[in-house]
Amino acid sequence: MRTPVPCLGLDAGGTNLRTGIFDAHGELLWHSRRQADFSGICRREQPDVALHQVLDILESVIRDACVRFPQVTAAGIGFPGFIDPATGILISSPNLPGLSQVDLPTLLQARVPLSVFLGNDAQAAAYGEYCRQPTASGALLYVGLGTGVGGGLVLEGKPYGGVHGMALELGHLIVAPGGRACGCGNQGCLEQYASATGLVRNYQALAQRVATAQEIAGLAAAGEEPAREALRQSAEALAQALAHVMKVLDVADVVVGGGLSSAWPLLQPFFDPALDSALIPVLRGKIHVRASTAQDEAGMLGAARLAAARTGACRRASSATPAQTGQP
Ligand SMILES: [Zn+2]
Repeated sequence: MRTPVPCLGLDAGGTNLRTGIFDAHGELLWHSRRQADFSGICRREQPDVALHQVLDILESVIRDACVRFPQVTAAGIGFPGFIDPATGILISSPNLPGLSQVDLPTLLQARVPLSVFLGNDAQAAAYGEYCRQPTASGALLYVGLGTGVGGGLVLEGKPYGGVHGMALELGHLIVAPGGRACGCGNQGCLEQYASATGLVRNYQALAQRVATAQEIAGLAAAGEEPAREALRQSAEALAQALAHVMKVLDVADVVVGGGLSSAWPLLQPFFDPALDSALIPVLRGKIHVRASTAQDEAGMLGAARLAAARTGACRRASSATPAQTGQP
């Protein structure tokens, strides 16, 4: 009988890189987290230098995992950006300027002894959330509030990334026409208001001083009015965008993840009424939005499962349909 092979998943955020090894049942066997300021690297360095630094970091964590689990044969990487679903080529990444049309999987495979699969980070997180807690409908919308705003969708128990890999780019829904400039080239995109970075900008405009997203959440919890107002602006921008998404998708279950989701108890009182007022009236009260409970693991698990499904690694997990692989 074949011994199930563990799956390796990487979750590359704007500033952190998480690496996890999962068994065939989705249980986390080992994980690591390191600072990896991909966004800063790409803003500071020339594109070719930045690419080599990004590759060096990814290679180092994959090699480390391979030493610990030499039986691993594939790595899945959830990466921020627009990724061609057929080739895994990184088309571009609004928060990682200079990395465009890069075949990261092939470049990495030349450096490490396993197959590499690249997928969108929020798409991976959506699938990871679904694997951890499947929904009765088989559908789940994921919203990641981090450096940017990412989106991912699971339909009928399977991840859906779109024909060109551009589906659910929620962060680039325009909520303020003519508003703040976005890395994607447009203005007034959701992520300029509802991401951690957007929250910082909201607060800076209101309070005329700079604070981190975490500090703003702390100030809001203490009742500081500009901080509460900054969170209200983020929550209402998110609600406005999600109400539009629901008019297209009609999904009942939404999970909010990413670093800023730790402030969900502060955002939700502003978000809920704003969503209800913007939804088609018959949908009011029928959308269940919750903060992630799988938080740090979802992106890694989803990436690992996507790689397993694509490469045939982690055999026991991928032999079932994605809907069947979910863990309660
Ligand atoms: Zn944008």
